[in-house]
Amino acid sequence: MYRLGFGTDIHRLAAGRPLMIGGVRIESDLGSDGHSDGDVLMHAATDAVLGALALGDIGAHFPSDDDRWHNAESSQFLRHAVGLAKEKGYSVSNIDSVIDLEKPTLRPYLDAMRANLADALNTETDCVSVKAKTGEAVDAVGERLAVRAQVIVLLVKAQ
Ligand SMILES: [Zn+2]
Repeated sequence: MYRLGFGTDIHRLAAGRPLMIGGVRIESDLGSDGHSDGDVLMHAATDAVLGALALGDIGAHFPSDDDRWHNAESSQFLRHAVGLAKEKGYSVSNIDSVIDLEKPTLRPYLDAMRANLADALNTETDCVSVKAKTGEAVDAVGERLAVRAQVIVLLVKAQ
């Protein structure tokens, strides 16, 4: 039995904040503002796993007004969601994702992100796809106002 999940996230970019994506610190003059460490890819992946289980969203499990999650490392949210899946007998079959960021180019970081996601998802790196696109200089991504991630995940239940 399979279950499909989808997650998306967006964070404002701001000066003086680190830019964490997929658990990797990106060299950038602008960082991700907001909840926890602001890791859009980890947040979208968490929402995708929770969505596959029809268990609501990351905000319901980790409220942004809860000080425990202030500057928290976001891989723990994903690990928690994967733990909920495991309780229901599901593991990750594969995951595909897209990060939208105008600059810098994320290509040098993608394999490290895949490894971090695979670790948190308790799966193999070749089951984890991470792609990166720019905003073509238009909309919030293109104007360097925001970073966005979209994730789709397939969970499989052991027979
Ligand atoms: Zn987020």
